[in-house]
Amino acid sequence: MSDLLQTLLDTRSWLLADGATGTNLFAMGLQTGDAPELWNVDFPERIARHYQSFIEAGSDIILTNTFGGSSYRLKLHNAQDRVGELNRAAARIAREQSDGAGRPVVVAGSMGPTGEILEPTGTLTQQEARVAFAEQAMALKEGGVDVLWIETLSSTEEVVAAVAGAGEAGLPVVVTLSIDTNGRTMMGVTPSEIIALQAELSPAPIACGANCGVGAAEVAAAVVNMMNAADQTGIRPIIVAKANCGIPEYKDGHIVYTGTPELMAEYATLVHDAGATIIGGCCGTTPDHIRRMREALEQHERGVTPQVDVIVQKLGEISTGAQAQLRGEMSVQAGAAGHASSRRQSRRRRRG
Ligand SMILES: [Zn+2]
Repeated sequence: MSDLLQTLLDTRSWLLADGATGTNLFAMGLQTGDAPELWNVDFPERIARHYQSFIEAGSDIILTNTFGGSSYRLKLHNAQDRVGELNRAAARIAREQSDGAGRPVVVAGSMGPTGEILEPTGTLTQQEARVAFAEQAMALKEGGVDVLWIETLSSTEEVVAAVAGAGEAGLPVVVTLSIDTNGRTMMGVTPSEIIALQAELSPAPIACGANCGVGAAEVAAAVVNMMNAADQTGIRPIIVAKANCGIPEYKDGHIVYTGTPELMAEYATLVHDAGATIIGGCCGTTPDHIRRMREALEQHERGVTPQVDVIVQKLGEISTGAQAQLRGEMSVQAGAAGHASSRRQSRRRRRG
């Protein structure tokens, strides 16, 4: 079993993950509606260049181009029978780039949501979801990943199934959820509930946290809320923060993200102060952003946990739901008041 991630965690106070996959592949010619995972076989040199760009920018962890690599997601492209092939290919290319990096770079096998809603709200059973995640996890392992990286999930039911499925491969597991709906996931999970949940998961994840969602400020608030919950329970989890590069806006028919490299550098040091150990970007985050985040983290000494006004001043608005959580008012209902636009944004959400 690979322990590269644990080895790095034991020797460093922060690790820099990568940025967006989708955003960068769109810049290489991927069209809206295409399955990025097909490029692992059709354009392997572009996928290699994508990984290489983040390694050169300073990432300690790169995620494979397999976010939609489960049979349920590939079915949308009539490629549900190619789970093994596409995931193995993505992992092998990443492994090659990592092995040639000249320093340790963790290859993390990205596993996104199935896109289905699990029982009892939906119809997909725990067992069906688990089987799909296990199939993807085994292929990523065969391709040589160091760790399985479950990301952008929304429901506790799917987290349980994904972790159990990933666990069948016998590799370390990381799990992050998307806080995009007034301080909660689309299915209502709060940052503090992520902490409680991760303590119950089997196998126990090596790290947990938040990715994607709304903007960098909201992820910073989520990190503070997760650490507060951890303090109360005595659990000391390794926290992951992988925020979108600002807020998405439509410009000339495309989605662009407003975050500058300077904003993401500010975000990186702020979430480190808040308690995050694994720090990266999600949608919109390019190698240029990652390069500035690396410089900022290298010059930074961990400071005190940022207060709400500091997060707002440096990174932007926080939803009323997240603010209430920061004040210790945990009874706020999902979707009540708060970001008028958060639901619209979550529908528009693109893969990392
Ligand atoms: Zn994202």
